[in-house]
Amino acid sequence: MILEHDAIRSSLADAWRQSQPDSPQAHEEGGFVVQRDDGSLFVIGWPRGLQNQILVPAHQGGRCGNMPIVATFHTHPNSGVVFQQEPSLTDIRAVRDDPDLSHPEYEGEYVISRRMIYRILRSGDVIAIGETQRLLERTDSEA
Ligand SMILES: [Zn+2]
Repeated sequence: MILEHDAIRSSLADAWRQSQPDSPQAHEEGGFVVQRDDGSLFVIGWPRGLQNQILVPAHQGGRCGNMPIVATFHTHPNSGVVFQQEPSLTDIRAVRDDPDLSHPEYEGEYVISRRMIYRILRSGDVIAIGETQRLLERTDSEA
């Protein structure tokens, strides 16, 4: 799972901060998690989204450039009561109904909200993986 990688946890934490949660400038951030030839993972960010919407760049054949996409993610930075924290039906359909995200290596789409991180599986099922703060906590000390 991508969250087992320190570099990915740190990139996701950065994306969360960049989405300026709970501020008037709150907007969605997201990206592809891709795999290099040596097996290591890194994030290719998507262009900045709107307050509660983000566009996914082209990813034909489940690839970004020539690298396989192992996961996608986006943030839900608005915690007001009118905003949904969990993945929306649109979010779920975007994963379930995308033939370019149907390869077996694809873990699904991670949705990062203030309290919880959710994962949308290729089947369209949604699971709550755990608390955001705990999952994205840095293991390295701030020297
Ligand atoms: Zn969403």
